[in-house]
Amino acid sequence: MQKISIHDEDKLKEFLSQNKIPPFRYSQIENAIYKNFITDFNKIETIPKDLREKLKENFFYDSLEIDMQKTSENGQTTKILFKTKSPHPNPLLWEEREQYEYIEAVIMRHLTGRITLCVSCQVGCPMWCSFCATWKLGLKRNLEFYEIVEQIMYAAKLVNEQGGVLRNIVYMGMGEPMLNYDNVKKSIDIATAQKKINIANRRVTISTCWIVPGIKKFTLDFPQTSLAISLHAPNDEIRSKIMPVDHTYPLKDLMKALDDYVQKTNKRIFYEYIMINWVNDNIILADELWKLLKGRLAHVNFIPYNPWEWTSSDWFKPTPRFIIEKFQNILEKYWVVSTIRATMWDDIDAACWQLANKKD
Ligand code: SAH
Repeated sequence: MQKISIHDEDKLKEFLSQNKIPPFRYSQIENAIYKNFITDFNKIETIPKDLREKLKENFFYDSLEIDMQKTSENGQTTKILFKTKSPHPNPLLWEEREQYEYIEAVIMRHLTGRITLCVSCQVGCPMWCSFCATWKLGLKRNLEFYEIVEQIMYAAKLVNEQGGVLRNIVYMGMGEPMLNYDNVKKSIDIATAQKKINIANRRVTISTCWIVPGIKKFTLDFPQTSLAISLHAPNDEIRSKIMPVDHTYPLKDLMKALDDYVQKTNKRIFYEYIMINWVNDNIILADELWKLLKGRLAHVNFIPYNPWEWTSSDWFKPTPRFIIEKFQNILEKYWVVSTIRATMWDDIDAACWQLANKKD
């Protein structure tokens, strides 16, 4: 019989009721897993031994294994490479029965004391953004909700052991969250449930390259969760060149969906703008950008482009800092708020967008 993830609340409750186990046992298990970070069912001492045995027979805690874990020299960033068993092994690779896929998560410890986890939601990505390393893998599959939750639990436990608390999650790792909506939704529900991981809704951020129908659903389901949009250019002409998704959902459709989101939620949207030299950093674009965002609840996050051997456009270069600052000054004049994202992970290749499977 196939085992079930312990994070599957409905199935766990169903199992307990079928076995005539009183419902308070559920709370004890939940408490042990999420509050005491117990990973071995044998060690849940609040429940009887035979129930621990039953859990072991029917449920699993880890579907992911840790393949590698690396912390940057300054201690600010930890990159975790998870290995997951592919549910669809390639029959042509007959010599290797057990096939694995790799996904990554990154813990970022900011100088302010804030600790953020960047998680992956797909193995690979289908979006083909030309500056990004992940799509080179193609889309292998969606992650199950529990594979996302396991990344969070692993990091939460690690941070806890180091005396900290994980309070922020960004869905900015491998994959496009809006294309794995149901699993992402379930994982957010578990991350934000008070009796489970208990992360405040507004401290969870979904980053999307603007799949419009997904944003509409998201508005209804998660009015409190934060939204980041990978904008990267203020007009369709440039955007569509670097992000093919723009052909399907041009700027005007996106901005309409985002205006609806802001109207319903009154939440500020984060607009991510990678600065790539000679591609999207002509100073004229700063004017287009403030015109696009003026009057909207917006925060622009400029991301210095991270050159990376796997990107399709090897000639892409990061924009010099002074040009990014010029952009900022222009936006500021028109009351559009912006920041420049700090890069803190250079020595370990752990930028979220570099989460490509080097093992392939
Ligand atoms: N698919 C989602 C989430 C993953 S990308 C999305 O598009 O938002 C997370 C962020 O990293 C996005 O803003 C993405 O555009 C950015 N990014 C990708 N490649 C990058 C690179 N080489 N340098 C800097 N930022 C990059």
